[in-house]
Amino acid sequence: MKKVVYPGSFDPITNGHLDIIERASKIFDEVIVVVLVNVDKNGLFHIEERVRLIEKVIKPYKNVKVESFDGLLINFMKERDTKVIIKGLRAFSDFEYEFQMALMNNKLDSSIETIFMMTNAQYSYLSSSSVKQVAKFGGCIKGLVPDDIIPDIMRKANK
Ligand code: ADP
Repeated sequence: MKKVVYPGSFDPITNGHLDIIERASKIFDEVIVVVLVNVDKNGLFHIEERVRLIEKVIKPYKNVKVESFDGLLINFMKERDTKVIIKGLRAFSDFEYEFQMALMNNKLDSSIETIFMMTNAQYSYLSSSSVKQVAKFGGCIKGLVPDDIIPDIMRKANK
């Protein structure tokens, strides 16, 4: 069985992330979305809240599940017996960081492969931080994130 992990901050999940999840779910037998605690990023949503939002929107995909992890991704992967990471690539600016991460993970464990999936053109400008900014200033986030979680995001951003 081919399993893949899709790691990220998902603060919050956007339609760009969901597009990668949906496409990955057609290629792999199982997709594990993993919300990683990022020491460099101050989040809006708590890790458990991010997981709950993801749970809401992955319901239609029977081979997708979500977990959180505080630690090195490769340790999570060892625990789950997975060898493949999938990442989304938007602009050239993503490339340098993702390239470094992929090489670092491979250096830490040479059996790990990272696969990159190009963003869907319609989501190439979309990031969690831009969604948070728009929501904070009362802008419309319809089309940027799944409809089901719009109220949760608006509520949190305007607290
Ligand atoms: P963000 O940069 O939005 O905060 P994350 O840190 O949660 O996102 O990123 C998790 C993964 O999802 C990364 O591989 C990132 O490149 C990818 N990703 C984020 N937004 C998009 C998008 N709009 N289209 C494709 N991939 C994306």
